[in-house]
Amino acid sequence: MSAAKKKRELDLSDFPPGAVNEYSTLVCLACTFNIFTTQLGLAPRTAYSEIKKYSPTIAELTAPKAIPPFFDSEDKNPRCPYCNAAKRWHALLATFRIEGGKATDPARRRAIKSLPQKDHQFQVIEAKTDKRSVFFDWLDTLGHNLDIEDNSWLLDTTRAYLGRLEPKTDWDEVFKGVRKVRRSQRLEQSWNKVGARLFLAPAVYSEVLIVQYLVSRSHVHGGRTLEGRLTLPELIRRLRYGGYLDAKGISQGDQFEVLEQLIEAVAGGAGNIKVYYIVDRRAFLEKVKSAYERYAT
Ligand SMILES: [Zn+2]
Repeated sequence: MSAAKKKRELDLSDFPPGAVNEYSTLVCLACTFNIFTTQLGLAPRTAYSEIKKYSPTIAELTAPKAIPPFFDSEDKNPRCPYCNAAKRWHALLATFRIEGGKATDPARRRAIKSLPQKDHQFQVIEAKTDKRSVFFDWLDTLGHNLDIEDNSWLLDTTRAYLGRLEPKTDWDEVFKGVRKVRRSQRLEQSWNKVGARLFLAPAVYSEVLIVQYLVSRSHVHGGRTLEGRLTLPELIRRLRYGGYLDAKGISQGDQFEVLEQLIEAVAGGAGNIKVYYIVDRRAFLEKVKSAYERYAT
């Protein structure tokens, strides 16, 4: 990687893994200039200064399916799906969402303070979102980054969930040499490592099973967990015998109602948390300038 490119990248290495979600989308500036000049009737120069100020909404920046003038493409040389404009008209907008909370607040304050202030190269947006959707985004990212057929999958998902529970622990260090994860009734803390075995307290172990089930249930019949492949009724039965349902006050309802309550428990309860979006507008601003120069001549 070149030094210039490295310098451009946001350093988010201070954050616990899983606390930052990254989104990127392309915006077509040919479409955008067209909206401002043809539809809104602005002169190119005015359109240019309006577009520079333009702040897309969080929904536009993070939508799973982009809406015009935004689009997503994996192609090396994509064309705008709306107007067929070539790559030189496309600008990339990268957005980082940081979960608020004690584990991330100091690093987030430092990261935001270090951003260049000039020309609104970055935009920071505070928002509230419910814990459940943050949890599902986390699950989604986890699922994308893991190979369910790989044997290390069970350890990787265990580590990921523990990282979410206890962000301050150096889990890479703890997991060095770990081969097996076991449940232990005798633990006073949430986990303990003995040789190649990592022991988890019953509640933590149960939650790891729930997370593994949720990540893998769309891939196979049932979900793949430390206890083997489990269908939803099998998972619930194990959690019931293991005392987890009683401990969390979950006992009522059919399997889907129970599942909803399990999700709420591993998502950290009901309610909202604060999230912070950092929008990197640098590439956008550069492209708007060159697109304007092209557009105006
Ligand atoms: Zn276009």
